[in-house]
Amino acid sequence: MIIAIDGPAGAGKSTIAKIIAQKLGFLYIDTGAMYRALTLKSLNENVDIADAARMAELARKSTIDLINDPEGTLKVTLDGKDVSREIRDPRISKYVSDVAKIREVREVMLQAQRNLGSRDNSILDGRDIGTVVFPNAQKKFFLDANFIERVNRRHKELNEAGSEIAWNSVEADLSNRDTIDSTRECAPLKKAEDAIYVDTTDLNIQQVVEKILSYING
Ligand code: C5P
Repeated sequence: MIIAIDGPAGAGKSTIAKIIAQKLGFLYIDTGAMYRALTLKSLNENVDIADAARMAELARKSTIDLINDPEGTLKVTLDGKDVSREIRDPRISKYVSDVAKIREVREVMLQAQRNLGSRDNSILDGRDIGTVVFPNAQKKFFLDANFIERVNRRHKELNEAGSEIAWNSVEADLSNRDTIDSTRECAPLKKAEDAIYVDTTDLNIQQVVEKILSYING
């Protein structure tokens, strides 16, 4: 079975997907982490992000693995190196949407994501899972929350991880990514017609998990 969870940054997708994957014994596939790992590599190797052909080549020759451990955490490796923390850095968030809007890059990622998801029962989170990557997914959700709440959540999450980033910088990052992700030509962020819309603004994690599980089991 494939479960697709799409939505903008800060809506709670990865937190919820991780918990549900653990409860159901599914593989958790964080597709945003794959775009983040490629962005890290392009910055490390000084590849011009505007050069679509070179970026696609970089994507093809990169090995990005998502390793689920039994405690429910996800390890992301890039060419064998653990980059789980580094890819969450605001420096990566700043450029990732410009990398993800490149059609040639998305074609490489699409194949990789389909291969990963076809191995086992999987839950994938991202922006285009229900619309493009797995349009036939058995269960599709679109998680959303109002903008200020999403900024608050992401700001708190980054602070708890040791970052001293200002609230205004997080606001600017989310606003920038929302715009690029939802207006790009290739696989823009949007709700699949048959996805269930869940507004998480006034719900806690437990309530969102229960809601999603009730739809999955129902
Ligand atoms: O999920 P996360 O916020 O970590 O994703 C980082 C970025 O990767 C998004 O802002 C978006 O530009 C891109 N992305 C995408 N398609 C996906 C997953 C993420 O374009 N399926």
